[in-house]
Amino acid sequence: PRHNGRVDYQELLHDVMDTARRTPGRGRPADYIPALASADPEAFGVALATVDGEVYGAGDWERPFSIQSISKLFTLALALAEGGDDLWKRVGREPSGNPFNSLVQLETEHGIPRNPFINAGALVVTDRLLELSGDAAGAVREFLRAESGNELISTDDTVAASEARHGHRNAALAHFIASYGNLRNPVDSVLAHYYAHCAISASCRDLALVGRFLARHGLRADGSRLLTRSEAKRVNAVLLTCGTYDAAGEFAFRVGLPGKSGVGGGVLAVLPGRGAVCVWSPGLDTAGNSVLGVAALDALTTATGWSVF
Ligand code: GLN
Repeated sequence: PRHNGRVDYQELLHDVMDTARRTPGRGRPADYIPALASADPEAFGVALATVDGEVYGAGDWERPFSIQSISKLFTLALALAEGGDDLWKRVGREPSGNPFNSLVQLETEHGIPRNPFINAGALVVTDRLLELSGDAAGAVREFLRAESGNELISTDDTVAASEARHGHRNAALAHFIASYGNLRNPVDSVLAHYYAHCAISASCRDLALVGRFLARHGLRADGSRLLTRSEAKRVNAVLLTCGTYDAAGEFAFRVGLPGKSGVGGGVLAVLPGRGAVCVWSPGLDTAGNSVLGVAALDALTTATGWSVF
């Protein structure tokens, strides 16, 4: 929808939600983390923040949810900002073609995870950020608060504890990586920071505002530089190829934007040069991506042509 040549973002977001609601199937909230199983399957929100600071939203766009793996985007950006390219010696950047929590490639690839957005890779990035900052989860929280202007963003300790109690697979991944010498901190503290940043609660509004740094080629909300243009381009590229796990091909096919999903049902996508959009609905497909969320992004890029292609 356009009025006098300007996009009416508000109307656009409502249209996109309506279109998404017409697609069949809703998926199911993640239940392997018991604290997430009780998420409201009807919840649905969309927010769009432009590079010049306007923000629009529809539905449950101001309701906080568990950001889960969307946090992996922020740990990566912060680890690169503080430590530079050395990180790429310890984690690859190829799509894995396997589920996000898979162990299988770690042995043949000698403890170097395929990419920073599967759990194995995110554990290495969390370890690196812990090395650089002394408080990986704290660094993510502070970054989200600063970029969104919402000082209330914090870790939901109930979710973090639930993850830790049922985290056998993540613990196995971390120990396996450590056996190859690819963790510098004690496994327990890497896991604790990993759970604490995954269990941060934030809304679509918050995350769309935060995501602007990637649309602005690395510039933070206050105008200072977090990433070089080249680093921001690379993070966007890895988001496109690896941000939605073994469904990254399907996501590129349908949406055509760099994006990161989480099992809380959120997806944060970057509109390079234009802004960032965050969608949330807890029902997941088999790859762990929000069914309504992906449908909404599909409708958005189909209606506007705002894909990177
Ligand atoms: N904290 C979740 C886990 O480790 C994150 C997974 C996700 O969002 N895909 O399993």
